[in-house]
Amino acid sequence: MNCCCVCGRNITGTSWLCHKCAKDNGVEDVAYADWPDWLKMFANQEHAERRREAGPLEIPFSMCPEAEMLAYGEWD
Ligand SMILES: [Zn+2]
Repeated sequence: MNCCCVCGRNITGTSWLCHKCAKDNGVEDVAYADWPDWLKMFANQEHAERRREAGPLEIPFSMCPEAEMLAYGEWD
């Protein structure tokens, strides 16, 4: 289950914020690139948490070179 990166509430879908936090922080219709830095930091933490839960093999390898090495290293 994904969580809102600000309040920790369970959310459906893949966004980083629940509707309330998005609205409260004025980023409801704002692209991630234009978020305030502190909010990006929260989202990054939540991203790391979700990656950890998904496990290394669930991550697209292009996003995580270390996972690629773990997965294929022994076949080299
Ligand atoms: Zn929230």
